[in-house]
Formats: sequence, structure tokens, C-alpha cells
Amino acid sequence: MSNKERILSPAGNIRGGTYLPHNKNTSKCESVVIPAPERVIIPLRQHIGAACEPTVQKGDTVYVGTKIGDIDRLVSAPIHSSVSGTVEKIEAIPMPDGSVCDAVFILSDGNMTPDPSIKPPTIKTKDDLITAARECGLVGLGGAGFPTHVKFRIKDDVHLDTLIVNGAECEPYITADERCCLENFNDVLEGVYLIKEILGIDKVVIAIENNKEEAIQKLYSIASDARDEDDTVKVMRLKAKYPQGAEKVIIYSTVKRKVPLGKLPSDVGCIVMNVSSVAALYKYITTGMPLVSRRLTVDGTAINEPKNLIVPIGTTLKEVLSYCKMGENEPTRIIMGGPMMGTSVPNTDYVITKTNNAVLAFYESTLPETTPCIRCGRCAAACPMKLNPASIEQALNAGATEKYKKLYADYCMECGSCAVGCPARRPLVQVMRTAKKEIRRING
Ligand code: SF4
Ligand code: SF4
Repeated sequence: MSNKERILSPAGNIRGGTYLPHNKNTSKCESVVIPAPERVIIPLRQHIGAACEPTVQKGDTVYVGTKIGDIDRLVSAPIHSSVSGTVEKIEAIPMPDGSVCDAVFILSDGNMTPDPSIKPPTIKTKDDLITAARECGLVGLGGAGFPTHVKFRIKDDVHLDTLIVNGAECEPYITADERCCLENFNDVLEGVYLIKEILGIDKVVIAIENNKEEAIQKLYSIASDARDEDDTVKVMRLKAKYPQGAEKVIIYSTVKRKVPLGKLPSDVGCIVMNVSSVAALYKYITTGMPLVSRRLTVDGTAINEPKNLIVPIGTTLKEVLSYCKMGENEPTRIIMGGPMMGTSVPNTDYVITKTNNAVLAFYESTLPETTPCIRCGRCAAACPMKLNPASIEQALNAGATEKYKKLYADYCMECGSCAVGCPARRPLVQVMRTAKKEIRRING
């Protein structure tokens, strides 16, 4: 077997982490396009960075792909209509993180007519690629929401040697990226080679957990493509261990480099892109249609027909869940995203945004009771960032900010691995969030 044919083993081993039940019930469920909703409610902030300002007003006619929000700030991404119809109003809505955000309410005409001005861009240079990523409204589709065009704005003196395509999808239940690899394979394939060539990246590692054999075999044909004459594109099979897909973890697993606190992947020569982001970018390049819908998994004990759906952005959870035949009783827990890093929401009025890779609904018994910490050390052993959550909680409770700063609380990526095995059921993720917030407040 030649080097070219090999599927790589990880370069570095994930430290800590946890083995979770995969519950990938929908991995064989082909994505279904949900019928156009009567109305979409599109928030003007769906990314890390500045919220957009509306570029439409009440009464305007819009089409699928019409820009409805933008702002002249570096870290931001424009927002487009996901249906054709009429702007009803622009009004603030509650967001899952507890904030409020202006949203454009659009009454659909039911036709899903594409914007007539849409045409595919020409990509010849790095600047063309940056402009395309921005005009697509593309953000990290794995959940991070970091605008892709900002990721591409690499300083001229920085050399990127590795593009890491993140197909790990390590949270239980979610199979949207896996389905993307299978259903949008050509967009992934062409996207990988285009990004590599235009950004002048030496090599590509397509990293995926070893519980997705069909997708691994499919992705392998990217590595064995005739274009890869120098054998620089590889697939890497990772352990199915949570949080393998976290950016810093996957960088360590694939190239064995550590990203220092406050630094970016580009500081260690890497760029990490979610596999669905690669596909979405290539789709934009070939069609000119910006990011107006997303593939997501709907599952959980309250769902009778778990599915992968392709949903117009701005569709309410109510519509998404009822399409998958949610049980008659109200679920006790609805999560936007995965069970580990997703956000629980109190009702089904919230709407799908660019970063939603799943909606989960559960009937659950009451949460287990929290008891005092017994200093067993399991949380520290499980932390991929080598933190000691029990000590940080103790320092937080004592108001000893300097102490938990010294314990690198702000290095926490809120993956929740520490909380999974805690016998005392300490609310460690909340602890870490509070500690990070306090550090940020003090640092100004
Ligand atoms: S795992 Fe829970 S009980 Fe054990 S040290 Fe950590 S916080 Fe305490
Ligand atoms: S302390 Fe943070 S990074 Fe470490 S396991 Fe807990 S949530 Fe994850």
C-alpha cells in the first residue's frame, strides 16, 4: 500500500475527553428539504462579531438570496433572505443566549424565487476568495459562527502549511456533517482543492471520527484524486472521543501543535474549516446562492421521526419539530445544537440560524441532585485543556479571581467533558462560564 493510499492515524492523542454514547440514529437518514414556511424570522446576528444593520425595510419585496442585513465591520457576515416574499417588519427577538437581536420578519410568497441578480463569482486570487466567503455570508457551520472571510485574511508574512477539514462531529446525535460528506461530496472535494490552491496551503488533513466508515471511504477518494500528484491531501481517522472536533483539540490530534491562549490556528500554521463550511463555500462559488439554508439533525426522545433536514434559515423550532412528529406532550428539554455544547431554550419560538447543526428534544426525568465536591479529581482528568475545574470552582466561590486566573480558567472551551463524569453533579460548565466572564470583566 503506497503512502498515497494510506488513511492516516492521529498525530497527537487527545488528552482527557470522554467516551459518550454516540446515538447517531440519523446517520443513514438522507436529508429532506423542509417545505417553505409561511414566514421566516431572520436574526441580524448569526455570527461572532458585530450584528448586521438591516438593508431592507417593511414592505420591500425580497427573493431567496437577497441581502437583508450587512455592516461595514471586519468581524461580521452579511445575512440573506431564505424565502421570496415581503418584509413584514423588523423587530427585536430573544436569542438562545439570553440576548435580544433585531430580526427581519418575511412573509413567504410560497414560490422560493431566487434573487435575479445572483450569479456565480469568479475566483482567481486570494482576494476573490475572501470576497466570495464574505458575500456568501459564510460562518463556521460547526457551531462557532466565526466569519470565514476573516479566517482567510491571513497576513502576507504568515505561512499556512495545513488546512484541517473538520469532519469529526463528536457530539452525540448529530449527523449533519456526515450527511454533507455523503450528499454534497462533490462540493467538499472541489472546495478542498480550490481553498488549498488559492490560499497556497501545502497540505490538507480531512479529519473524521472512526465511527463514520461510509463517510471515511467517500472522503478517501478526495485524497486519492488525480490532482493530488504530490500526495498532500490525506484523510485522518480519529478516535470517536468527545470533544475531538473542538478546534484546539483537532489541531493537536492532526498536526500535534498547541495553540497558545489568545492565539489563532494561523499562529501555528493551520486553518481549520468545518466540512459543511467547505461545501457551502464551493456551492456559493458555483451557483452564487449565499448561505440561506442549513442541514441539521432533529432527534431526541420527544421526536417520533428523527431526521436530517435542510431548513430555510429563520424557520421556527415549532415548524422543524412538528415536521419530525414531536410527541404530543411538551418536551422537558429542547436544545439548539448538541447535548454537550448546545443551548437549552424554553420554548419552540426560537429560530434556526446559520450555526444550528441540530435541534434535540427530550422527555427527561428531573435533573440529578448536586452534592458537595469529594475532590476525586475526575474532572481534571477529563479536561482536554489540562484545567482543574474543582479548584477553579473553589476559587470562584471564594471570590479569588486572581487564583482562578492563575488556574487558566479562561482557557476553558466549555466542552463539558469535566461535568460528564462528576459524581457530585457539580455544574462545572456554568462555573467555568462564570469564571471566564469575570476574568473578561476584570481585564476590561
Ligand atoms: S469530578 Fe466533581 S466531585 Fe470530583 S473533583 Fe471534580 S467537581 Fe469534585
Ligand atoms: S474545564 Fe472547560 S475545557 Fe475543561 S473539560 Fe471542563 S468545560 Fe471542557
